[in-house]
Amino acid sequence: MKCALVRPDGSTVHTERHATDAGRGPDAVVETILDVAEGLAGKARADGLDPLALGIAVPGVVDEAAGVAVWSANVGFRDVPLRDLAAARLGLPTALGHDVRVGGLAEARLGAGRGTGHVLFVAIGTGIAAAHVVDGVAATGAHGAAGEIGHILVRPGGPRCGCGRDGCLEAVASASAIARRYAEATGAGPTGTPASAADVADRAAAGEPAAARVWAEAVEALADGLATGQSLYDVEAVVVGGGLAQAGPRLFDPLRAALHERMTFHRRPRLVAAALGDEAGCLGAALLALDAR
Ligand SMILES: [Zn+2]
Repeated sequence: MKCALVRPDGSTVHTERHATDAGRGPDAVVETILDVAEGLAGKARADGLDPLALGIAVPGVVDEAAGVAVWSANVGFRDVPLRDLAAARLGLPTALGHDVRVGGLAEARLGAGRGTGHVLFVAIGTGIAAAHVVDGVAATGAHGAAGEIGHILVRPGGPRCGCGRDGCLEAVASASAIARRYAEATGAGPTGTPASAADVADRAAAGEPAAARVWAEAVEALADGLATGQSLYDVEAVVVGGGLAQAGPRLFDPLRAALHERMTFHRRPRLVAAALGDEAGCLGAALLALDAR
């Protein structure tokens, strides 16, 4: 859990990290969230600050309007009324958001999309998810599940996705998929450390054929997914964050070219790297809380 005290102007006063330890079960995780939030409010008061609002962001399916963590694979939430629980414990206005959507909110308002009205934020790590932010507000979808761009079908009959279908974008182009596909392509055995997506990018740049092929396939698939995103959303900027964005020009140069190649009559969006790093979630949760006051 990444936690912060954030001023209304978006500057961070204090940060903390705590283990989620999801193996203890969802009830214990909720208790930890409430304890940590209470501790942060206490720290703020001890430092002469006045806590205004609390924002919490969690992964999975989140019903922001109801303040309910509907479903989460990795934490085990099932219909947890987290917003009301936290508001009752702390006595502060509280907002509940989705981790990627609040990250997009922060990048659109304070980071790489600053000054841009229509932004698509795409986080590429273990999976691929997105947030469509218009004038500083991230769309949630009717069921709290907007932005699952990783499950756009890009390669029918392709590799099996975690969702159970073959050929989703994240089964080809997430950081984990790139590492897995490279290991499969090279027949890398159990000895030594398996190559990460960053290693694959390095080896591709050094001219290693298997790495170059896996990397190029990921870039092409990403371009297909982002082109679909642009057809749907017509944004000014696509902001890419998450672990894979660390590859820098090795990702962005070919991806920008491949994306622009796919634009026929659509306007070409700017393709830029996220600017806030792993602080984006905390900042976005704070923005959501301030909006909800
Ligand atoms: Zn899928």
